[in-house]
Amino acid sequence: MAEACEFARAVAGAVLARMAADGGPRWTVLDASPSEGSSTPPTAPSGVVHVRITAGSAPSSPDVVAVYFTTGVPGADAVVATASQLQDHAIEATGGTPLPACPGHGHPLTARVLDGDAYWVCPHEPAHHRDRILPLAVDAPAAQRGRAH
Ligand SMILES: [Zn+2]
Repeated sequence: MAEACEFARAVAGAVLARMAADGGPRWTVLDASPSEGSSTPPTAPSGVVHVRITAGSAPSSPDVVAVYFTTGVPGADAVVATASQLQDHAIEATGGTPLPACPGHGHPLTARVLDGDAYWVCPHEPAHHRDRILPLAVDAPAAQRGRAH
């Protein structure tokens, strides 16, 4: 579980840094820990566990948001889901800034799984732009590497 939380933290950190570079909110990851509570049971029958990630400019700030990272599913899918949640919060917090910005276009990039990996992709012309959501140095825990190829 600790490994999954560390990976979730790394995913959120990479996503926040990517959006901050395009004028996004200067948020950092405040916490990443196993989710508890009735709405998202910590342990689903399939062994799925949700890691609750909080991010914001400071722990007591009103801009703190919470998103979830799901373990037990292929890593790229989990990365895309968490990236999309953080993206939604960042775009809302900035009043509609395209984050992360598609180079040369006026819209945000879309988080998507391509070739088993998680990418930011141009939603209109996928060939126009794509970049990896995670730096190559960040690797998923063994349990999250779902797609052998
Ligand atoms: Zn585009």
